[in-house]
Amino acid sequence: MYLSKLFAKTRKQVSKDEKSINAQFLERAGFISKEMAGVYNYLPLGFMMLEKIIKIIREEMNVIGGQEILMPTLTSIKSYKQTKRDKLDILFRTKLHSGSEYILNQSHEEVITPLVKQFVHSYKDLPVYIYQIQTKFRNEPRARSGLLRGREFLMKDLYSFHVDEKDLDEYYKKVQKVYKEIFDRIGIGKDTHLVYASGGSFSKFSHEFQTLCETGEDEIYLCNSCKIGVNKEIINEQKVCPECGNNKLVVKKAIEVGNIFKLKTKFSDAFELTYKDKDGKDKPVVMGCYGIGPSRIMGTIVEVFHDKAGMILPESVAPYKNHIVILGSRNQEAGIRKIIDKLGGEDNCLIDDREISAGQKFADADLMGMPYRVVISDKTLKKNSVEIKKRSEDKTELVKINKL
Ligand SMILES: [Zn+2]
Repeated sequence: MYLSKLFAKTRKQVSKDEKSINAQFLERAGFISKEMAGVYNYLPLGFMMLEKIIKIIREEMNVIGGQEILMPTLTSIKSYKQTKRDKLDILFRTKLHSGSEYILNQSHEEVITPLVKQFVHSYKDLPVYIYQIQTKFRNEPRARSGLLRGREFLMKDLYSFHVDEKDLDEYYKKVQKVYKEIFDRIGIGKDTHLVYASGGSFSKFSHEFQTLCETGEDEIYLCNSCKIGVNKEIINEQKVCPECGNNKLVVKKAIEVGNIFKLKTKFSDAFELTYKDKDGKDKPVVMGCYGIGPSRIMGTIVEVFHDKAGMILPESVAPYKNHIVILGSRNQEAGIRKIIDKLGGEDNCLIDDREISAGQKFADADLMGMPYRVVISDKTLKKNSVEIKKRSEDKTELVKINKL
């Protein structure tokens, strides 16, 4: 992609009310544009990054047998009344012309459970794992953290359906493993920890995945030996590490990037989702649910990986691997074209061909955060070379074009 053709431009300033690091850098770099607090447009580079995150999540969901569907955003309040969640204050409510009330979904248990009831009747139909990647809505009182706390945001939600708790427990462990794999591939694995959280009314614990970050809104208590955490909300009932019993837990700021729950029969009871076992007896289906927020992960990556000059994006999710800075070197088009092709062509290269100063080009390359900066100038071309610098490092290296 040529920067001269990209419709979204970098900006020097963003509005003063944008306090979070992730929104400041992503907006200045032309990745996103604010619609209102907690609601953003994803521009070409931002959308590419989001899609790369989603692709990794989707691949890993398919590894554990997930079948992808797409559920509606609008759901009748009647379903929420059935699960007694119609009074949640974060629900966005709306009405049809007829006056009947609808919800913009903040989660999809009220949709998936009746949906699965249409197709699951016997133990032979179980287990089944269904997920979607969809827009969710939450009427947040405060939305000042950029992509970290959206009123409208993307969510991958997986739901699992089992004959009994033993089967749920086994799958729940599998999801924990695959979540770790997802965070590793996205580049935040080293900083992301499994954290014990309250299980609500239906289970002793649920689990969160929390990424350590000074700007995080959450506080966790981390075990230094097994790197497992306890959420602040349950630290009074769980004062030691649940894995090794260590009682010296260290408090850390973190961002919640995923959560997994054993719903057991809470929703299957509400919607009478049952199956016939081998003896023809009716039994409630046992459920689990597993969330990851791709848009929140995008914000988290920027919170974790940046310096004063801008973002430092991991290669697996950066919109482009290379940021090519062309300086002077007119009449060298064929030579430049050859270099770009060697570096994987326009699919792998963001190419700064704009008629602006070298200083501005370097500043934008730092701001936008692609993993490698490649400078092509008269000086480098004379030596049949390009100058390469990793965004995460200071040193530059002159590399012969035929060695690229
Ligand atoms: Zn421990």
